[in-house]
Amino acid sequence: MTNMEYSVKHKRIVVKIGTSTLTYATGKLNIRRIETLVRVLSDMRNAGLEVVLVSSGAVSAGTSRLGLEITKRTVEEKQALAAVGQCEIMRLYERLFATYGHTVGQILITKDVVDNESRFALAKSTFAQLIGFGCIPIVNENDSVSFEGIKFGGNDTLSAYVAIICEADLLINLSDIDGLYDSDPRKNKNARLIEHVAEIDDSILACAGGVGSDRGTGGMLTKLKAAQIATAAGIPMQILNGRDPRVLHRVIEGEHVGTYFAAKGENA
Ligand code: GLU
Repeated sequence: MTNMEYSVKHKRIVVKIGTSTLTYATGKLNIRRIETLVRVLSDMRNAGLEVVLVSSGAVSAGTSRLGLEITKRTVEEKQALAAVGQCEIMRLYERLFATYGHTVGQILITKDVVDNESRFALAKSTFAQLIGFGCIPIVNENDSVSFEGIKFGGNDTLSAYVAIICEADLLINLSDIDGLYDSDPRKNKNARLIEHVAEIDDSILACAGGVGSDRGTGGMLTKLKAAQIATAAGIPMQILNGRDPRVLHRVIEGEHVGTYFAAKGENA
């Protein structure tokens, strides 16, 4: 391991964490993991890095909060569950970040924000202002009022646009898998982790399987799509296993972990 000082190569970092990493199979929040995540992000912030968190988990948290069974839900049900769960998640983040002296600001967005120039500019200035105030923006899709036409279709895609909106230096996707493998590691024990992707071509896309767990919406394919969006905009993306969020320290200290997708032009 390198020294304990963080690298300044990536000053503004967007960290995305998905439902399957934030919650247990019961649907309830994994408090231990969330506490670790908040401690690590707070430390990064103290070291002078700028952090934006894209957090899923609203539908799952809402389901468990209402004591409902985890099963396939209608869109209308999910919209209402997200409204309940979003409060639950933000209450926890607000309290935990405050423990370390940090203030959070919630931003809920829909895809029409990135499709509309003036709304895009508004979102951009809000992020800049929040970061300027020293806050940690916490972002989710505004699921309660989104319909198909204005949905990102999952927080992997959302996180790539958030990275663009706030002009991040790096996008980190904390997943329930170590990174991108050349075949599905759950089926093939010889599957090999791909450490560096210079370009997302057809051979890379072919490595992605279908959708992931039942509780989130993202699989590897949506992560690759997010990497395509971010890297095309000049922002590198890294997929890491979020099982232990302390892995973020290692990345910021310059160690190679997970799969790194180079930004367009980065290796030129
Ligand atoms: N926005 C959804 C939620 O908070 C999650 C979307 C996703 O899993 O990517 O529950």
